[in-house]
Amino acid sequence: MAVYSVVVPLYNEEAVIEEAYARISKVMASMGQPYEIIFVNDGSRDGTMDKARMLAGNDDKLKVLSFSRNFGHQPAITAGMDHARGRAVVVIDGDMQDPPEVMPELFAKWREGWQVVYGRRSGRKGETLFKKLTARVFYRCLNAVSEIELPLDTGDFRLLDRQVVDAMKALPERNRYVRGLVTWVGFRQTCVEYERKARAAGETKYPLRRMLRLASDGVTAFSQKPLKAGGIIGTLLCVSAAAVALTQLARGLTGRSWSETACWAAAILFAQGLVLLCAGIQNAYLARVYDEAKARPNYIVAEKIGF
Ligand code: UDP
Ligand code: MG
Repeated sequence: MAVYSVVVPLYNEEAVIEEAYARISKVMASMGQPYEIIFVNDGSRDGTMDKARMLAGNDDKLKVLSFSRNFGHQPAITAGMDHARGRAVVVIDGDMQDPPEVMPELFAKWREGWQVVYGRRSGRKGETLFKKLTARVFYRCLNAVSEIELPLDTGDFRLLDRQVVDAMKALPERNRYVRGLVTWVGFRQTCVEYERKARAAGETKYPLRRMLRLASDGVTAFSQKPLKAGGIIGTLLCVSAAAVALTQLARGLTGRSWSETACWAAAILFAQGLVLLCAGIQNAYLARVYDEAKARPNYIVAEKIGF
């Protein structure tokens, strides 16, 4: 039975798969414990699967899961975690941007009793300024609006204890923003600093379109604020419209000049505000429905004594 599992999502990575296998195996062999490596081929259209099959043919510690088509990075990680049997599971990208040589540090923290060990990037080589900047801004915004506090400058490179993996497997939600879920489940979490490298070879599989989709998954899965924004704006509109109308009324009643245009404007603003406010009320219910649909447990027990 494997003590350690290493999950590696791969999409069109024929240029790096051999290096990934060699480096990960070398590090794992040096750990001196039973381990398994799980390659998840996310519907690659190049030679990734052929190479994976060949590598697995010569090594029974290497297991390969292959998707029927490209489902995406997060589903690939999820599938790997579902199939991992180790007591500690590490997720690492196949492009070697996260150096496998850092894994022993993750395992060391795990042996100290930490159950989630994030890799935190102290530098990002070979990534465009645009990517660094958008990542920076995005995580800060997400933390500002969401109900969870994501650790900054971390990606999907991390170690999860068996208890955490099982807790995550028990979450039935479909749109899985894995790094958010990891934070959400709790347990003892820490991080290890490392330098994020440039890709070993090949190019990014995250064009802007996918980055935006991942970002929107992150926000919608962990924040109700966008749903509530309409209601707040509607309330503000109604209040200011009422203020304008009341001022005009007061002016009229006290014999001062008043503006018919302002009254019309207030009436229109008020009607608009009312529409938004009603949408906000509907959204409050929608938020509850969404919350129920995600069906996350109300709590996760980490330990029981005396039962
Ligand atoms: N990946 C995947 N499915 C996808 C896109 C990416 O399994 O649809 C894998 C990819 O092979 C790599 C990891 O996820 O191992 C991270 O992708 P990438 O390096 O392209 O993202 P970036 O580091 O540029 O954000
Ligand atoms: Mg990468």
